[in-house]
Amino acid sequence: MGHGDTHTDISRFDTEVYADRLRRAAALTAAAGLDAIVVGTGPDLQYLTGAVADTFERLTALVVPATGTPAVVTARLELASLRASAIGDLGLTVRDWVDGDDPYALALQGLPDDPALGVSDALPALHVIPLAQRTAQPVTLATPVLRELRMLKDPAELDALRTAGAAIDRVHARMGEWLRPGRTEAQVAADITAAIVAEGHHRAEFVIVGSGPNGADPHHEQSDRVIQRDDIVVIDIGGPVGAGYNSDCTRTYCFTAPPADIAEAYAVLERAQAAAVAAVRPGATAQSIDAAARNVLAEAGLGEYFIHRTGHGIGLSVHEEPYIVAGNTDRLRSGMAFSVEPGVYLPGRWGARLEDIVILTDEGPEPVNTRPRTLTRL
Ligand code: ZN
Ligand code: ZN
Ligand code: ZN
Repeated sequence: MGHGDTHTDISRFDTEVYADRLRRAAALTAAAGLDAIVVGTGPDLQYLTGAVADTFERLTALVVPATGTPAVVTARLELASLRASAIGDLGLTVRDWVDGDDPYALALQGLPDDPALGVSDALPALHVIPLAQRTAQPVTLATPVLRELRMLKDPAELDALRTAGAAIDRVHARMGEWLRPGRTEAQVAADITAAIVAEGHHRAEFVIVGSGPNGADPHHEQSDRVIQRDDIVVIDIGGPVGAGYNSDCTRTYCFTAPPADIAEAYAVLERAQAAAVAAVRPGATAQSIDAAARNVLAEAGLGEYFIHRTGHGIGLSVHEEPYIVAGNTDRLRSGMAFSVEPGVYLPGRWGARLEDIVILTDEGPEPVNTRPRTLTRL
């Protein structure tokens, strides 16, 4: 799976990209009526500083006050790796602590008494509770601040997603090298995993090889099932590239001419995916994109076989806002990036899914995946 979990090879953007994000985070923190947000390690910290840190019981957090200089609180043993990130160039206050110190008091240093705090949603409860005990105000989620930032990608992020899309397209383009009847799904998946790294990813984040009846289970990953000549095979693959931005692309394959019912259903799926992509424009609701795909399938009598949402946002996380799902009335804006991935799943028989990552630009929808969208015969 690549390079272990230190990921020192994950690149980062120019320092000014992070400085800009921190300024916007502070402005949104103020607008939310908060004195500060406390951001734990993971994609949120990576987004704001470029730092790839992985801590749990020892508090490492970025504190972004509504006004003033952001501070990083970290265990001294994490300090060197954090200084190697953009944190070293951003002019942030760094407050390190050793076992026995009170990192929570350090986190709140310089803030008003009883500050209104927002915490990132991945900050462990074992840090949230002690923070909450040090302020008389209720601690809330910083989600509105971080969601708004991460959902609207800046140009550097959009380029990163284009690079990721091209990398996973190269893997799909090579599928005939590995995907053959007589091999097991697991054997094919191992080859794909290696190719995902060879084509420029840090690692494979997920490799779904769903052959025959396994393709009808959207949650299927891979198995020792031997692929058959008349199988339909769903291949859904992706992983992080460059500064940590993810690819995610599904194509469906076969080895012989499919029976008419499968060919017809797949043609409907293709139309459903195209209709959903065509509906992507600024101001459209997220749920209208889901409906655009679902309506095409429903009109062809396939509605009951499309059993998941149409898509999810993507960036530093494979699944993030905005979710393209019934009930989400959020309006799409230029700078958002998400999957459009309808599928049809006939239980016990076969399944198909067609997935592209689509960026919404001022000019309209831009799929970052460009491989043929037909049922591809190898
Ligand atoms: Zn790596
Ligand atoms: Zn996928
Ligand atoms: Zn996806």
